[in-house]
Amino acid sequence: MTNPKYKKKLDDLLLICQKSLPRVDESLIRRAFDFSFNAHRHDIRASGEPFFDHPYAVAKIVAKEIPLDDVSVAAALLHDVAEDTEYQVKDIREEFGDTIADIVDGATKISDIFKSHDVTQAESYRKLLLSMVNDIRVMLVKFADRLHNMRTLEYLPAEKQRRLAKETLDIYAPFAHRFGLANIKWELEDLSFKHIHREAYDQIARDLKSRRREREHYIRKFSQPLERRLRDSGYKFEISGRPKHIYSIYNKMIKRNKPLEEVYDLFAVRIILDTEDANDCFGVYGIVSDIYIPNPERFKNYISVPKKNGYQSIHTTVVGPDGRMVEVQIRTRSMHEVAEKGVAAHWMYKDNVANVDPELANWVSWVREIFETAAEGQVPTQQLMESFKLNLYQDEIYLFTPKGDLKILPSGSTPIDFGYEIHSKVGDHTLAAKVNGRIVPLDTKLKSGDQVEILTSKNQSPNPDWEKFVVTHKAKSHIRRWIKEEQRKVIDEGREIWEKRVKKAKLNISEDELVRFVRDKKIDGTMELFLGVRDGTVDPDELIAQYQEEQKHPSPSGQEESRIDGLFNRFISTARGVSTSIVLDGSKDNFMHNYAKCCQPLPGDDVVGFVTTGEGIKIHRRSCHNLQSMRVTAPDRIVEVHLPAEGGTLFVAGVRVSGDDRPGMLNDLTHAISTYQNTNIRSVTIDSDDGHFDGTFIVNVENTDHLSRVVEKIRRVQGIRRAERFEE
Ligand code: MN
Repeated sequence: MTNPKYKKKLDDLLLICQKSLPRVDESLIRRAFDFSFNAHRHDIRASGEPFFDHPYAVAKIVAKEIPLDDVSVAAALLHDVAEDTEYQVKDIREEFGDTIADIVDGATKISDIFKSHDVTQAESYRKLLLSMVNDIRVMLVKFADRLHNMRTLEYLPAEKQRRLAKETLDIYAPFAHRFGLANIKWELEDLSFKHIHREAYDQIARDLKSRRREREHYIRKFSQPLERRLRDSGYKFEISGRPKHIYSIYNKMIKRNKPLEEVYDLFAVRIILDTEDANDCFGVYGIVSDIYIPNPERFKNYISVPKKNGYQSIHTTVVGPDGRMVEVQIRTRSMHEVAEKGVAAHWMYKDNVANVDPELANWVSWVREIFETAAEGQVPTQQLMESFKLNLYQDEIYLFTPKGDLKILPSGSTPIDFGYEIHSKVGDHTLAAKVNGRIVPLDTKLKSGDQVEILTSKNQSPNPDWEKFVVTHKAKSHIRRWIKEEQRKVIDEGREIWEKRVKKAKLNISEDELVRFVRDKKIDGTMELFLGVRDGTVDPDELIAQYQEEQKHPSPSGQEESRIDGLFNRFISTARGVSTSIVLDGSKDNFMHNYAKCCQPLPGDDVVGFVTTGEGIKIHRRSCHNLQSMRVTAPDRIVEVHLPAEGGTLFVAGVRVSGDDRPGMLNDLTHAISTYQNTNIRSVTIDSDDGHFDGTFIVNVENTDHLSRVVEKIRRVQGIRRAERFEE
């Protein structure tokens, strides 16, 4: 090498290799450099520059942007030798051995495909994939080659520009995506777009430029409080405004049918954490969503479920300052590496043996299989290509029943998902699954094009373990429902055992009485009791004996049947104020009396009294259902009473509330209640599920009027669908 300009170029390339590659055979790079320089010495590019500048630039891209190994860099230097010079693949084979010669051969063949105009696109796909499955480095060299050609496209005639741009957009960009080469994919897309829709491209580029200052200012404003909190929490991180790509902006405009301004308004920020612990990303997400309100629909967790190309990150969209939407990506440094280098981060060559990420290897072997089994001409090329496009952007997979019906499922779906997709009964009774005629494990991840047959059996039922690997909502909810039903059956069995023992002891324990009793025994409700009885952890006979013992020393509380909520019971005895007097049959007197727990009468209610033995008169609401049976069994003990509106005495009342669950709902409700005449809330239970909630408020009120005003206040809270007094 005599030319000092090229001596410098070689040194630059070696330096890049040293920096970005794990191990560099310098002499290999030198020899490839010299060989290529010599072979191309007479050739000139369309731009008028020496042709060698092209393979050199491609080698630099491979070394810097898709850093894999020194073999790829050498192959990149040599990739056009067999195509454009007096040398052939066999010369490279002699000089550099089989591996490099095969890569160069593969890359040359791909170029040949595109030169002959009568080949269809599908055919190109086919050849591209075939060469790729032999050595993935062929594709990396081709990506770099195409990228450099696209960067220097303006020197070619307009017609050729458009053809190459379209080909790049249709074939190379999707492949780059599948390989996880995000930056290369974006650049290929933007460059293609520029040559296909020049005007739109220029317009968006101009707009982006003019808004740059404003954008940077806003990103700073957004980031500052975040950075402070992250630092205070001890995170080491890098936060940056993420440039939006012109082609993706254009696509968003088209897809969402929105004007430029609205699409630009979507700002994007990326947080890269210097940590090995993926959980830190969730911690950081917590801080982000603490400062800015997140849109739960835009939350994507690609950390727990990485994309097919290995991409991992958390994506969220939050409401930033001034109400603008900001997309935030959160990932660790190593996740970022994968996002940038894609396949190269997975595909490590050690001693020339590919050490491959199994997920990607599976995909590649599937590609190989399809092409090897699909004999030429048998599969329509158009169909083949469609099937590939599906697999390049695989958020969905396309599956077939044995009869050939198409089912579309999210990627990652298993035979169980497929079964539930056909019918819930098929899912529930899945015994085994055949994929393409072979029995497979039920957690097998299905691939586009798979033919799936579900074998069912009446005796088969869902396995709770299925819930861990199914991905569709349908399958998940059916499995959960089944588990719940199964639990209920077990509880019923326990109840049956319990009731037999109670009967044997000649006892009659009401449900309400039982609730109180088990709570005293520190058992968490009757359900726990029945479960315990069934699996033997609770001895029913021992409990019954205890119950009988307690019956001999009865508590002052009434024995009458009531079916009120157990929760209600807890607060009732303490909260109930002692009433001073009632008006009985028109004459005011101090009768011993108390209030029925079943219907919770308040001053203002239409009430009647029931004369009990030993407890005086028990006051019921006239509408009380317990009273209905007493009217039949002991009509003579029912007396007309009148409760005077007593000032100052507080009564307990319950309000049942239901509505749409939302952040701050409980707070708004308690606020609405307590701000009305300082109404005291004694207890709250809230049960929320799937955006819906049911709640019970136990409050202190003076009378029915007070209560209905509280209910009215509750009804006015946003999102409340029902609010009414607790009956029964
Ligand atoms: Mn080239």
